[in-house]
Amino acid sequence: MKCSVNGCNLQGLENHHVTYIPEVIKPLCSEHHRKITAINSHEVRKKHNRNKYKGYFGEVKISNKQRWFLWYKFINNEIKTRISFLDKIFIEEGNSKYSLIDIVNMKRRNEEKKEEKKDLNEKTKE
Ligand SMILES: [Zn+2]
Repeated sequence: MKCSVNGCNLQGLENHHVTYIPEVIKPLCSEHHRKITAINSHEVRKKHNRNKYKGYFGEVKISNKQRWFLWYKFINNEIKTRISFLDKIFIEEGNSKYSLIDIVNMKRRNEEKKEEKKDLNEKTKE
């Protein structure tokens, strides 16, 4: 089967869950699988940050409706994405390149860097 993304002629050798309940699986090439996974996790992180702002720290999930919305935009090449540092860690975690402790530390360091940047931005504004 071909990769589900329009214009991509590679084999869709990886299975992507568009939704889990009900289970809907579509074929993707590995590059596009990395990208849609990154897009979904960016959405989760965005939502998590919005919730945090509201004082809610519970588990964050994106709805099926949202997942389909992102999926159609994605297969029609309407979402541009960038594999971020965090995404790379999570992707490579699957290849067990890093231990869980490494990942947690890298994540923490990345958060600290973001905070430092924020502080710096606020200082330069003053
Ligand atoms: Zn593809």
